[in-house]
Amino acid sequence: MAQAPDIVILNGKLITFDTAHPRAGALAISGGLICAVGTTADIRELAGQKTRVIDAQGATVLPGFIDSHVHLFGGSVEMGYLDLYGIQGADQLTPVVRAYAAQNPDEALLFAVQADYSMMGPGRKTTRHDLDAMLPDRPFAVYSPCHHTIWANTKALELGGVLHGGTVDAGAQIVMGDDGLASGELQEPSAYAPVLRHTRHSGRDMAGLITGANPVPAPTGADRGVDKDAIERGMKHCASHGITGLHLMDGNIYQAELLDEMAAEGRSACRAQVPFHYKSFDPLDRFEEAGEMRARFTSDMVWSGMAKMFMDGVVESKTALMIAPYPGTDHIGDAVFEADHFNAACIRADAMGLQIATHAIGDLAIRRTLDGYAAAQNSNGKRDARHRVEHIEVLHPDDLPRFADLDVVASIQPGHAPFGGYFNPEGMDEVMHDHQIPLSFAWGDIRRSGAKVVFSTDWPVIPVDVMPNIKGAVAPLKLDGFRDQSQSLMDTLQSYTAGNAWVEFNEGRKGQLKSGMMADVVVMSHDLETVEPGHLGTTRAAFTLCGGRMTWEA
Ligand SMILES: [Zn+2]
Repeated sequence: MAQAPDIVILNGKLITFDTAHPRAGALAISGGLICAVGTTADIRELAGQKTRVIDAQGATVLPGFIDSHVHLFGGSVEMGYLDLYGIQGADQLTPVVRAYAAQNPDEALLFAVQADYSMMGPGRKTTRHDLDAMLPDRPFAVYSPCHHTIWANTKALELGGVLHGGTVDAGAQIVMGDDGLASGELQEPSAYAPVLRHTRHSGRDMAGLITGANPVPAPTGADRGVDKDAIERGMKHCASHGITGLHLMDGNIYQAELLDEMAAEGRSACRAQVPFHYKSFDPLDRFEEAGEMRARFTSDMVWSGMAKMFMDGVVESKTALMIAPYPGTDHIGDAVFEADHFNAACIRADAMGLQIATHAIGDLAIRRTLDGYAAAQNSNGKRDARHRVEHIEVLHPDDLPRFADLDVVASIQPGHAPFGGYFNPEGMDEVMHDHQIPLSFAWGDIRRSGAKVVFSTDWPVIPVDVMPNIKGAVAPLKLDGFRDQSQSLMDTLQSYTAGNAWVEFNEGRKGQLKSGMMADVVVMSHDLETVEPGHLGTTRAAFTLCGGRMTWEA
């Protein structure tokens, strides 16, 4: 027979997502592709003297996980910042913040992540004075988990030049205090960008989110090196969770260039799609850049072909765009786009054959996003576009059937839900009406409506760790008022592997354990089908292979 395979994986419980052969016990890999799938006895026969043999020891073997909504650059950089997850109140926060400051004496801006909206107490807004009390003498700022808000102390506001306010884009706000000075709360990227510019990577990690353009000033050779080192660490971290592919949800040419160089240097542990990020202040002609990115980045490791947009903010800061005003207010949130401009953008992007992914959290934002996709269909004709709506947190019942009707993909992060097991579920009644609760975070209802559902984390909003997110989908918390949105293990795994391969138009090349497919494979620590659902979050990847290359070994 032909050459012996490079690697064989034996004694596994393979979930192949190949409908003709859904189950198998072993597979073989050669030249970066899966070359055979079968029983352990059959595959063992193929092994030669130089073949690496991996014993799965009865554990689940899957196509490599694809996280279809991440912010890779930001997530990678943030692994090095102070993490305030679960730390609440001045008494708990102050010693942690001061210790971090002492450990980082040369940092121009001390920066922390995962700061809860209610970190100073339930219903209490965080101000610069709160942060001054923790750290008065050095610039200090903290990021909310959703990355839509930064709170800064007085020194940090001065450093960013926004203590006296400033001009921002639509939907953004430098919140001002009664004293005429900035309160410390900076809502949305254009409000907090002047502060973020002083972080370790000079805000280069956030340029793809804030402007979608390349960082200014142009990065030096040394900057590129520092940035690639951070991304390399981030990708290795992803691989340690069984991830072989990523869909970035912010982007610019700079990020795509870095990833392309890293792939050529053999430093990429994951494949990555990098979108063109279209902002509401951009003229329609800026879509030419999306065409350039698509033409320039075409490898299996780094490619483009997608336009990302934001329709609104987030519920927690009441910037998500709602049909009805927030409880006790006359405020419906903030539209990032005028509806006409968004529709025109969708028509242009769709006419170019681009896939569109739009952040839409509030019920009016979701409606307007679906309207934009419908406008594209009406104008350009229906095609296999696989346009995506990201997040879908508060859905109006009238819009539920429109996903299936329009063939629009629901891109969901199970770990974001109040019942997802990561965020503190309290306080939703302050920002949502009772009538909105039944169809909020309604993954189960959306799937049953016939829509395609794909899963992701939106790292670093929550950790990129796959299995806690899967646990959140399969065994969500039971919370009063919310409907049961639990998902079957098989649907959940599908939405994290084959479904995500499909949404990137690569269903013929990855997402199944099948001969001829890319050898993107994860061997798990356990047989997931025998693990109690509530314990799924503690299982992990034992081996990760991307293109037949070992990117993680426990
Ligand atoms: Zn995101």
